[in-house]
Amino acid sequence: MNLLLYGPPGSGKGTQAAMLEERFEIPHISTGDILRAEVKAGTPLGKEAQPIMSRGDYVPDEIMVGIIRNRLVEKDTGRGFILDGFPRTIPQAEALDALLTEIGKPFDRVVYLRVETPELVKRLAGRMTCPVDQKTFPPGTGLCPEHRVPLEQRPDDRPEAVQNRIEVYLAKTLPLLDYYRTMGGGQLVSEVEGAGTIDEIHSRVLKAVGRGTGVSNS
Ligand code: ADP
Repeated sequence: MNLLLYGPPGSGKGTQAAMLEERFEIPHISTGDILRAEVKAGTPLGKEAQPIMSRGDYVPDEIMVGIIRNRLVEKDTGRGFILDGFPRTIPQAEALDALLTEIGKPFDRVVYLRVETPELVKRLAGRMTCPVDQKTFPPGTGLCPEHRVPLEQRPDDRPEAVQNRIEVYLAKTLPLLDYYRTMGGGQLVSEVEGAGTIDEIHSRVLKAVGRGTGVSNS
């Protein structure tokens, strides 16, 4: 199952992708997580990406396409993958199409997590992240309840960066929705309401990928 989780920053893609990874045992590929690991390791790529990410801007397309190409040809994607955070621009989507055709792994489904802008700002500004597994918690949470370590704030979750991330999303990434809607005979994209509890949204996502639990999710 080759999935794309698409949606604005703060729509819950990372949370839902992690749940799908566990359930279907296919890798969750998050370009944000890949870049943050590079920043942490202090690699040349990390050094280049760090100030761009802190502002909430996008890392150049050619870098991102190179990263995703290397990642998608790894062996663990044999049974499928869940892409989160890529593509984010039309050139990235075009490069990805060519790559997926080349490696014979077209998307089975694009899941669009729809969340209104005011809700995104509320979720992102000040949210806290566990340094161990990147799980996020509401503003004001001090310790990770699972790992008992202090939570951290992502530099791009500072209120001044959040507004820019949303603006960049609307300008550069929202156009991808129409791009994918016209692909696959118009059947590729499933729109999922992204407001509600994590479990409610998970049920909706499962239904969208055709693996519903039988649990009511109206
Ligand atoms: P978000 O919560 O904003 O979706 P991510 O963790 O997916 O956050 O990404 C964090 C940052 O990493 C982005 O704001 C951007 O700077 C960079 N980034 C991640 N994926 C891409 C991409 N496909 N193209 C360009 N920049 C990216």
